[in-house]
Amino acid sequence: MATQTRRAFLESLARTSAGVAALCAVPMTLLAAPKPRVLVIGAGLAGLRCALLLEDQGCEVTVIEGRPRIGGRLETLAHVPGRPEAGGSVLGRSYARMRAMAERCGAELATPAMGHGPKTGPCKSCHAQGKVPDRRGGPGQLIAWRGELVLESNWIDAVPGLSERERGVSPDRLMATYMQTANPLPDSEAWTRPEFAKFDDTSLEAYLKDLGATPTALQLMDVAPNCPGLARASSLWALRDGQRRAAAAGGLPLEFVGGSTAFVEKLAGLLGRRPITGKVVTAIGSGPDRIVVRCADGSSYDADYAISTLPLPVLARLRLDPAPPAAQAAAFREIGYTPITRVYYAVRRPFWEQDGLPVTMWTDSAIERVFPLRDDSGAVVALVSHADGPGAEALDALSERRRYRYAEQELARLRPATRGAVEAVATTSWTTDRFAGGAYPYYAPGQVGRLRPAVALPLGRLHFAGEHTAVTGPGMEGAAESADRAVGEVLARIGSVQPSG
Ligand SMILES: Cc1cc2nc3c(=O)[nH]c(=O)nc-3n(C[C@H](O)[C@H](O)[C@H](O)COP(=O)(O)OP(=O)(O)OC[C@H]3O[C@@H](n4cnc5c(N)ncnc54)[C@H](O)[C@@H]3O)c2cc1C
Repeated sequence: MATQTRRAFLESLARTSAGVAALCAVPMTLLAAPKPRVLVIGAGLAGLRCALLLEDQGCEVTVIEGRPRIGGRLETLAHVPGRPEAGGSVLGRSYARMRAMAERCGAELATPAMGHGPKTGPCKSCHAQGKVPDRRGGPGQLIAWRGELVLESNWIDAVPGLSERERGVSPDRLMATYMQTANPLPDSEAWTRPEFAKFDDTSLEAYLKDLGATPTALQLMDVAPNCPGLARASSLWALRDGQRRAAAAGGLPLEFVGGSTAFVEKLAGLLGRRPITGKVVTAIGSGPDRIVVRCADGSSYDADYAISTLPLPVLARLRLDPAPPAAQAAAFREIGYTPITRVYYAVRRPFWEQDGLPVTMWTDSAIERVFPLRDDSGAVVALVSHADGPGAEALDALSERRRYRYAEQELARLRPATRGAVEAVATTSWTTDRFAGGAYPYYAPGQVGRLRPAVALPLGRLHFAGEHTAVTGPGMEGAAESADRAVGEVLARIGSVQPSG
């Protein structure tokens, strides 16, 4: 098994303020003491990283996972044409932990093909120049708005009622125009500090209106707001995301070569013991000297400590003993998750040759956005429509079979050349997935101040990790950051009980 040096581990922990606090309490005698037993619940990214770090530090680790597979919200759909990712796939250049983990387990990262259209392929010229492509320079995307089909390059003249600042900005970039420029948050932890709490009282919609967003721009941004709707999200939460994206801007994004499932398999391969799948946790009891975790199949696991990486909608359903304090229980119950629902289509005929338009689309329909999926040669072999927010909620209300039919019909209505040229063959909904309950958390107005501080408080011998507990960033890097903090907490406690043993 490959091992990380203690120094490298300490350095990575030291990148978070919680990690620094935890480190001070870790005695150097830890490795000589009897092996502490730690149970990690959930074999997603956070769980696998917790397990790896704990094993590095000499703990005996068991990972249990409810699904029949590992990876959680990372999954490559190998059976679908184009092998799309169902969940997380894109790594920012600033993802230091993720890049280090990929290197450690031998997973290759590369810049993905950009989804312009069929002719530009992987946009080699943009890649060679090391810049994110300017979509208006190429065929760009096709925008379907109020029954009209508009090329992105013509968008500037197509929509009346937009302000000078908004004109010519494609609908999917409008939010960034407002939330990334002149963002009042100076750094990635600022959203947790009291001086910025005033932004938590305001909805994202009200904040955008205050900044001068026109009613038309608000309607455009409300199509795919990355939450259930502009009026339902805290502007502080959105500013946090904008701050992160602005800080990460520059440099091309990365993806796992061979897909995210290959990456998590490599990561799990570093562990002394493979995660045990099919173990659906239903109850956790934390006693004075051990913790017991019960599963739906009647099995149970006990350990000195446990780290839960379960998403909040799952935590809200568990029987926890002791019961969490009121604020923490409210955090589990009330923090919402962004709905994301995708439909995947096999391409039977190159419809773009028929109408001469780009494959990539932004639409005001419930299917929302359409992207090409390519094979290794860059040829378009399939499509995916990605709906987040209100569109995803509408699709989730349909059975899978009706969702397929509805999505095909919407595509044909918006773009007649697709009729009979594409066939919906798969769909994923993170909201109806009982192991997730949504794609990732968002905060409603007032929730950052009221609920965030309680979300990861240790409960007896139970500690909490997972993307929903991260401070400096959401997504995969957030999941990794959360693991560092939770492992630091556990090591600090082991340290405080071990020396005499
Ligand atoms: C559609 C989508 C797109 C995304 N895009 C990006 C992106 O491009 N870049 C990025 O950085 N991030 C992205 N993300 C976010 C990223 O995927 C997540 O932040 C990350 O995978 C979360 O890891 P985690 O370990 O915290 O949670 P999870 O991966 O959810 O891990 C939790 C684990 O617990 C298991 N579990 C649940 N319930 C139980 C139970 N009762 N008993 C036992 N086990 C259980 C789950 O099966 C899962 O394996 C995206 C997410 C989605 C859904």
